[in-house]
Amino acid sequence: MTRKNKLITGAAVLVAIAAVYIFYPSSGLDTELDGLRIEEEMQKQAEFLYGIPKGEYNTIQDKVKPNQNLASLLSAHDINPGNIVTLSTKYENVFDTRSMKFDRPYTIMVRESDTMKSAAYLIYEKSNIEFIVYDLEHDTVYKGKKEVSVQRKHFAGTITSNLSETLQDAGVDVALAYSMASIYDCTIDFYKLQQNDFFKVIYIEKMVEGKYVGIDKIEAIEFTHNSKPFYAFYFEQDEVGNYFDEKAQNMRKAFLKAPLKYGYRISSKYNKNRLHPVLKVNRPHLGTDYAAAHGTPIITVGDGVVLEASFTKGNGNYVKIKHNGTFTTQYLHMSKFASGIKPGKRVSQGDVIGYVGSTGLATGPHVCFRFWKNGVQVDPFKVMPPPAEPVAKKNMERFNKRVAVLKKELEGIGKELTASLK
Ligand SMILES: [Zn+2]
Repeated sequence: MTRKNKLITGAAVLVAIAAVYIFYPSSGLDTELDGLRIEEEMQKQAEFLYGIPKGEYNTIQDKVKPNQNLASLLSAHDINPGNIVTLSTKYENVFDTRSMKFDRPYTIMVRESDTMKSAAYLIYEKSNIEFIVYDLEHDTVYKGKKEVSVQRKHFAGTITSNLSETLQDAGVDVALAYSMASIYDCTIDFYKLQQNDFFKVIYIEKMVEGKYVGIDKIEAIEFTHNSKPFYAFYFEQDEVGNYFDEKAQNMRKAFLKAPLKYGYRISSKYNKNRLHPVLKVNRPHLGTDYAAAHGTPIITVGDGVVLEASFTKGNGNYVKIKHNGTFTTQYLHMSKFASGIKPGKRVSQGDVIGYVGSTGLATGPHVCFRFWKNGVQVDPFKVMPPPAEPVAKKNMERFNKRVAVLKKELEGIGKELTASLK
């Protein structure tokens, strides 16, 4: 189970009251014309397979078995591999056959007239959208993509216990729960959802060949937590999409630049080859040291939950804070912790979590600040997310119009619900 998974299952149980689906045709307004187009399209699809006219071929479709490779899957079907090995080496940049995955579908096409039963095409479905074509008649390998259509959907639910399971029970992809949780990472504590919390969500699903393949994006959410509504609206500025609340504030919170408010200097930066000042050996320094007077308050650079408030020989007194599914920070060599700082404690950006000291392996009073992204210690100066800017003034009119439309649609979800229950 991934950490994210735990967050959702640990979060709260949720029971869906209803799901109302709206289907949007992907193109055109003239439905009659659309009908015609769809019919033509279906006919075309019936004649082609991965863009190949299938009439002249015998087709075998199967899934990759455990430990099966390109050669073995061909021989499993009594197909002559021909030059496929040379070809896959030559086109390794298009697709590395070693990354073929268990249980992914593949198709072999053999010319009806071929008594040697040599594969003319081998198509591997890398994902539900992307596929790789080994064209053995023209000695080439290329990538293809299936046509993706979208469906706009509504979903409403009330919290009673577990978010992911209930979405699953309602036939909704659990990925929707993860996406929602990550949008509210800095706003709602998913560990503390209440019995009567409820939400409404407008989102877009991706479909391939009439089958669901994933969430495209969430457009709007109204999450009522402790009787207070928290809105999230997807909005693009300069082609970059972000989630904003109804006051046009970015849902993502930027981190503070330093774990100290004042009176510090950076004494050592993140450095992969540093001579350790105490151990006198070459040891990477994966943190940033802020020298400051003994007792200076240390603050958390972002909202989060205390994972550890502990002591080790090297770190001295240290605090580790999880901010969201992506970022974790750690603060070392404290003289002491701030009162109430212990695992599970929820902290807000700027809260004092401890005081500068020189416990553990330290030459003088300083705080060693460490920054993790997806479980890897990184240089915060290089990877800290960009500031979470609100909607720009010049886009406010467009934003407000969009929000008005989405809010009305969210309001309507409840009404559709009542109507459908009658
Ligand atoms: Zn350090």
